[in-house]
Amino acid sequence: MMDRESGLDQVPWFALRSIRSWALWKVRPLGLVFILTVELFAPVLTAVALSRDDLSATYLIRVGVLLAAAIAYGEACDRIERFRRFLGDGSVRTNHLSVWTVAAILVVPAGLAAALVMAIYAHVLLVGRRGRTLRPHRMLFTAAAATVATWAAAEGAEFVAGRVVPGVAAHSALPTVVALLLFLPLDALIVSTGAFLATRPARFRAVLPNREALGFEGATEVIGVVTAQLLLRTPWLLPVSFGFMVVLHRASLVKQLQLAACTDAKTALLNASAWRERASAAVASAAREGRRVAVMVIDLDYFKRVNDTHGHLVGDLVLREVGRTLKRETRASDLVGRFGGEEFVVLVDGRASVAHALDMATRIRERISTMDLPAQLRVTATIGLAHCVPASADGLDQVLEVADAALYGGKQAGRDRVHAAAV
Ligand code: GH3
Ligand code: MG
Ligand code: MG
Repeated sequence: MMDRESGLDQVPWFALRSIRSWALWKVRPLGLVFILTVELFAPVLTAVALSRDDLSATYLIRVGVLLAAAIAYGEACDRIERFRRFLGDGSVRTNHLSVWTVAAILVVPAGLAAALVMAIYAHVLLVGRRGRTLRPHRMLFTAAAATVATWAAAEGAEFVAGRVVPGVAAHSALPTVVALLLFLPLDALIVSTGAFLATRPARFRAVLPNREALGFEGATEVIGVVTAQLLLRTPWLLPVSFGFMVVLHRASLVKQLQLAACTDAKTALLNASAWRERASAAVASAAREGRRVAVMVIDLDYFKRVNDTHGHLVGDLVLREVGRTLKRETRASDLVGRFGGEEFVVLVDGRASVAHALDMATRIRERISTMDLPAQLRVTATIGLAHCVPASADGLDQVLEVADAALYGGKQAGRDRVHAAAV
């Protein structure tokens, strides 16, 4: 199931004053309207569907078993999930709840399946409160999106089972495929649309789940299908689903840990060692092919004063904003890293011309000096740019030395400027 969960929340979610402090109230109006509409729509939809459902004892027992399984799994894997959230980067990610949701879509009527999703998320909010690792307003929206997607997928499966191929059960092959095809795209679409309208990134793609997220979600849903079949045929084998989920859950941590190991926590750029590793490979390939590379070293001017005058927290905020500016002004193929302290590095994609690199450096310098910062703070940067055909495959240090020397020249000449040097 898609969610936008990350970070550590500092306030208990249940306190009224914390509701007032939710970041939700600061999002763009259209985003707020969309999010609140989905959140209102979900329980209304569930209530209407429930009023039409056949609430037989069999269905109620199935829902009870799935709820118990979801709570037991949530409790058992609370620490893994909290760690996943802690490592998360705030982008659209997945959680493990689809396993129970998909099973419910296939074995109980739509209203009951939607009600189950709401009950499972109520438990997640309680567990999250204990660890304070989730942002409740995001989880509420995630829950509402999942409820709507669950209802639609269950209705879709029932429609196929009842009208398109009369006589088959909702958990047989065709309705199952229809349910999966409806659930994942709809859930992702609602969450991504909310995130897009709330934050308005430059591209819609930025809020879409990435390949890892889709892989995890797809695998979770397949385990959900297996869970439905186990529940109907051999309920005593249900713990097998637990086993599958634990393996999947732990495997997904590995990928996140790999990512975290390469990322600078403050700016979300590459950290020094990851940047070096990738830049070395780029320099080696440029040396082999006789191509030019451009490397810029960006150092903030008089940054110590920012800390001394406004404090380290504001200093950190400036560093984060510089990270964002660098990401905005470079292309995905450029390597952008934080080298340490208030020093950043960019290796411009190999096929770029010198003029392009110089242009980019000039633009970055301008954008940094006009960043929107608190207390009318203005920060400038000096940039040293080196462009050359690397002399050897292990020539990164040589290129960096040239860029560093250019940076030093820029600082000597008065700061807030770009100094370029060729080898
Ligand atoms: P110059 O124009 O010569 O570069 O002057 P400067 O003050 O920027 O340079 P200096 O190297 O003397 O100081 C760098 C400062 O960056 C010192 C340190 O307080 C600050 N700094 C380094 N890392 C961090 C960080 O992670 N967060 C914050 N807030 N400040 C940092
Ligand atoms: Mg500095
Ligand atoms: Mg410095």
